[in-house]
Amino acid sequence: MAVRWVLTVIAILSMSYITSYLLRRSDIIQSKDDVSEVYVDKGKCIMCRLCIKNFPESFRVESGRVKVLGVTVDAINAINKCPTKAIIRGEKYD
Ligand code: SF4
Repeated sequence: MAVRWVLTVIAILSMSYITSYLLRRSDIIQSKDDVSEVYVDKGKCIMCRLCIKNFPESFRVESGRVKVLGVTVDAINAINKCPTKAIIRGEKYD
């Protein structure tokens, strides 16, 4: 009974480790074809900092403006959470 319990725990820990490794790697969109860019429209951004609070690894304030640190799943998820829809996915024209 104890051996079975130990083997079950080892299996659970192994699967957790493998799953966390695979999910971290898949969080980063590596192909430029998937998403060309995620950026913040400075005309729409009201500096509420909700994106930074929710996704601190993907957004930062630089020179008084919110910057996207990379095209990640978090940055894409932030698009729907921005109250003014200032986070935009696509080509930046300015
Ligand atoms: S959530 Fe939107 S409006 Fe608020 S700081 Fe971030 S980009 Fe600007």
